[in-house]
Amino acid sequence: MHAVNIGPEFGKENLKFVDTEKPQPKHGEVLVRITKAGLNPIDYNLIHGKIVYNMKPIPHIPGSEAIGAVETDGSLFKKGDQVMIFNRIFDGTCDMCRSHREHLCRHGGIWGVVTNGAYTQYVSVPEKNLFLIPENLNHDVAVSLPIGGLTSYRSLIRAGARPGDTILIYGASGNTGIFASQLASMMGLEVYGVSRKDWVKNYGCSTVFKPGDVPSDFKADIVINSLGADFWKESITHVAVGGRIVSFGVLTGREAALDIAHLYTSEIGIIGSTGGSLEDLSRLLKLSETHEFKAPVATRIKLMQLGRALDEYEKIRDGRIVIEVS
Ligand SMILES: [Zn+2]
Repeated sequence: MHAVNIGPEFGKENLKFVDTEKPQPKHGEVLVRITKAGLNPIDYNLIHGKIVYNMKPIPHIPGSEAIGAVETDGSLFKKGDQVMIFNRIFDGTCDMCRSHREHLCRHGGIWGVVTNGAYTQYVSVPEKNLFLIPENLNHDVAVSLPIGGLTSYRSLIRAGARPGDTILIYGASGNTGIFASQLASMMGLEVYGVSRKDWVKNYGCSTVFKPGDVPSDFKADIVINSLGADFWKESITHVAVGGRIVSFGVLTGREAALDIAHLYTSEIGIIGSTGGSLEDLSRLLKLSETHEFKAPVATRIKLMQLGRALDEYEKIRDGRIVIEVS
């Protein structure tokens, strides 16, 4: 089968396209033929050598967001089932797993980082990581749910989003922003986006501010800053008294200063969120049966042209990059 390899030298110039053996499913696993994969910061950073901790094996097959078709019968799934992969490795026995936080498993990690991932034709995956894709769900949306959708969904839950709340979303046209906007709108929040792209209005934002143009006196009950350091100082000034700021990404840097007095005198909550649990993904899939989510696709790129996908990733795009595998 074809696969993409990276490591021990990193950077897109060191991607290798190799022929390798199909993996053999172990106990509890089934073989899945990958049909589509996403390209997220985690994949981009891994390929560029910025996520080498816990990464194995090396050389490594990247790719942490994918859907596919089951190729071998298992005990829960059968050949032909269309599935999405919950991309966290978890043991099911630690205190985190047993309190429905498999994504924080003490002995786990991200599938595609601590294991080989999706940029290949076939993967062997534990059945406990698979979810059936509902028949009516668009597959561009389906491939966006395990990271883009799930990260956004959990961050809104963690922020205690309630109907009537106002929310300000930085990076509203990004992989997560598109879903945060749609989900927040669906939950009855008033959604304000920060983006260069006016089309985010089609994804739940009632108002779109250009970066740097958010009025200085504008306040929201919830502010999502998935962009990190460069937007920290500005974004926290837009949190209303008693509001929350949520972070799940550091695209522009990971360290920022904080006015602690502003934090406590305004009773602002700072909330970290990462990925989501099995239960979160299950709920998100349930929502997708009654609510038509949209995932704008800027580019479709074949697996063997992954280098081009990484070039596209560095540009300001109109939607997601979908890697078409088979
Ligand atoms: Zn665990």
